[in-house]
Amino acid sequence: MTPPRPGPTGGDRLGRTLRLELADATLREWDATVLDATPERIVLDRSAFYPGGGGQPPDHGVLLWGGVQTRIVGARRADDLELIPAEGDPLPVPGAAVRGAIADERRTALMRTHSALHLLSGVVFRDFAALVTGSNMEPGEGRLDFNLDAVPEGFKEAVAARCEQEVLADRAISVYSLPREQALAIPDIIRTAKNLLPPAIEVVRIVDINGLDVQADGGTHVASTAAIGRIEVVKVENKGKGFRRIRVRLRD
Ligand SMILES: [Zn+2]
Repeated sequence: MTPPRPGPTGGDRLGRTLRLELADATLREWDATVLDATPERIVLDRSAFYPGGGGQPPDHGVLLWGGVQTRIVGARRADDLELIPAEGDPLPVPGAAVRGAIADERRTALMRTHSALHLLSGVVFRDFAALVTGSNMEPGEGRLDFNLDAVPEGFKEAVAARCEQEVLADRAISVYSLPREQALAIPDIIRTAKNLLPPAIEVVRIVDINGLDVQADGGTHVASTAAIGRIEVVKVENKGKGFRRIRVRLRD
């Protein structure tokens, strides 16, 4: 199947804001117009700030305008995509032209981490038939919870070795959108055991690690598994019957 190209479609809007990061996760700077600005929130017509979701925390960055800057310390989904200005920073007025910039180090680390967790989920599903029941990530580290009753001897080392193989295999990671029915026809597309797709969602964004893992996902990802870099499996915790937590960290 030829995946449709992602682009600035209706699905890439949140209220009045066009979400640029969904079509291009590498975008770090862009021009925009301010639609609303209060000490609590700034709304732009175009934004690449990831608002958080799917376990991936929101971006940080700045808006540059009139020779000054407004630091952005977070973002969230509301009626529009809302950027959270740093307390006390100057605010642009509605109608002002601004240049937005994402804090690159944090976002790039989050992209690598998010892709690493998909890779881990793909490996554990393929080789140990376990589903994800929970997740969390910070830049450079994260954890996934699995419904896994018992683990074989050497499980942690086996997972680490297979993750390393998948990074070395440099599998392409592609992002595309599918109509709901077509997406749900893909076996195991909703990889998390509990998380079902809300009925209102008509177009499903897919993150596809070629040959390893296909998931419905709204986050930002690197372009291939080699771009994740080395994944260290920090520990495997037994959290009770049928509940194993795997913690990973990115090296370098
Ligand atoms: Zn994800």
